[in-house]
Amino acid sequence: MTDYSVAIVGRANVGKSTLFNKLINQQHALVSPIAGTTRDRLEATCSWQGLDFTLIDTGGFDIIKSDPIEEQILVQTTKAIKEADLVIFLVDTNSGLMPLDKDFAIFLKKHNKNILLVANKADTLRKRDLIANFYQLGCGEPIPISAASGSGSGDLLDLITANLKKIKIKKKIVPEAIVSKPIKIIFLGQPNVGKSSLINAILNEERVIATPIPHTTRGVQTIDFKYKGKNFQLLDSAGLRRRHKKSELIEKFSIEQIKTLLPQTDIALLIIDVNQNISVQDKKISKLISDHNVNVIIVANKWDLVPDKDENTINKYVDYFSDNLAATKYAPIIFTSALEKQRVRKILDIALTTYQERFRRIDDNAADKFLKWCIKKSFPKKSKGVKQPYLIDFKQVATDPPRFKLRKDAKSVLAPAYIKFLIKMLREKFGFLGTPVKIEIEGVDLSHKHKKNIKPEKI
Ligand code: GDP
Repeated sequence: MTDYSVAIVGRANVGKSTLFNKLINQQHALVSPIAGTTRDRLEATCSWQGLDFTLIDTGGFDIIKSDPIEEQILVQTTKAIKEADLVIFLVDTNSGLMPLDKDFAIFLKKHNKNILLVANKADTLRKRDLIANFYQLGCGEPIPISAASGSGSGDLLDLITANLKKIKIKKKIVPEAIVSKPIKIIFLGQPNVGKSSLINAILNEERVIATPIPHTTRGVQTIDFKYKGKNFQLLDSAGLRRRHKKSELIEKFSIEQIKTLLPQTDIALLIIDVNQNISVQDKKISKLISDHNVNVIIVANKWDLVPDKDENTINKYVDYFSDNLAATKYAPIIFTSALEKQRVRKILDIALTTYQERFRRIDDNAADKFLKWCIKKSFPKKSKGVKQPYLIDFKQVATDPPRFKLRKDAKSVLAPAYIKFLIKMLREKFGFLGTPVKIEIEGVDLSHKHKKNIKPEKI
C-alpha cells in the first residue's frame, strides 16, 4: 500500500524477524489496530521521518541447505527481493562471514539492488571489531546493530529513509498533486463523540504545525496545518475547535452543512464513540460520504473507556462497524482516545496513506490481467432470459478518485453483484485503502462487422 518496499533478507537465524519486530516497535508504526490492512505479520507499514514504506520480513521463508542460493530461497523471498526498493542484507556478527552470505551478496548484486549491509548481534564493542570481515561482501560498509536490544535500530531507520528519499527522487512516482495541494479533511460525527477533542489533540500535537489564526475561504472556516512536510486543511463544519457549548441548532444545521462541505473535501473522518451503538445519523453520514466520492476513515474514539480489552475486542468492533456502516465498508478503522492522546497522530498518518491511494494507477496490462483473473475466479453469470455477459476489456480511466471502465457486449446485462465483486477484488489486489472506487460499464455493439475489430477476450 505504500510506494516503497524494504525487504529484510539474509540466511537463516541471523535475526531477520527480531529486527523486523524491533523496527516496527521502534517507531510505533505497525498500522494496527486498523482494519483493512493485512493480518499477515510478515509485512508492516512503517512511517519514519515523513516517509511511509512497507517492511517485509523474509524470515518466514527460510530453509537451511547449502545448495546454490537461487534454489534454496523460496519463491516468495526471491519475489520480495526483486520487488524491493531497498534490501536490508542481514549478517550475523557471532557466526562471522559464512559462504551463504557470499551467495546472498552475489544474488543481490546480480539483481542490482540498493543494499544496506547490516551486521546483527553486534552487542558489544569487542564484537563490533569483528564486523570488518563483512567488507569482503562488497555491499558497502557493514552497519552494526543489535536487533535484540534495539541498539542502532533508530540509526538504521534514518538510513533506510535517507536511502528511500534518494530513490524517491529517481522514481518520481509521486504525482504533483500529492506534493502541492493541501489535503482537505473534515471531522464528522454525532455530538459528544469527541470531534473537538480530537481536533484539539491533533493541533496541539508537537509534530503538527498549525497556523495560529483560523481563516475563512468561500464561507468555510478552515485551519491550515502541516504534518510530515505535507499541507493539510481542516474544514471546520461547526466551529468545532472553539465550540464550548453545543446546541441543537448547530447539530441540526450540520447535516446540511456536511452536504456543502463534502464536495470540497478529500478525506472525511467519521468519528464514532465506541461505547455507543451506531445511530441512524451515523449511517446517514456514512452514506453521504460515499455519495460524494471522498476518502473515509472511521475513527472509533473513547477507546480508553472500553473495559477488558483483549485481542478479539477490535475484531468484534470492526465486524460491527462494517455491518452497520455498509456504505463506507472500505474505510480503515482506527481506535483512538482523544483524552489520553492515544493514536491521534496515527489518524494523520492514515489520512496520508489513504490520500496517496486516491492517486494509485493500475497500468493497462495489470488491469487486463486482473480482469482475466477475476473471470477465472468467478464467471459472470447470465441473468434470466438474457445473454451471457461478454467482457471485452478493463482499464483505469482516472485517478483522484480512481475510476475504471469495463467494456462488455451491449446485448447482455451484467449483474450489479458482479461489479461489487470486481471492486472487492480490486481492493484485495491493489489496496485503495479508504478510497472510493468506481467502475463504469460501456456496452459495445458486437453484432456483425464491429466484432472483427474488437477481438474480445475468450471467457
Ligand atoms: P464533539 O461534540 O464531538 O466535539 O465532542 P467533544 O470533543 O466536545 O467531547 C465530548 C465529551 O467527551 C467531552 O466531555 C470530552 O472530554 C469527552 N471525550 C472526548 N474524547 C474522549 C475520549 O477519547 N475518551 C474519553 N473518556 N472522553 C472523551
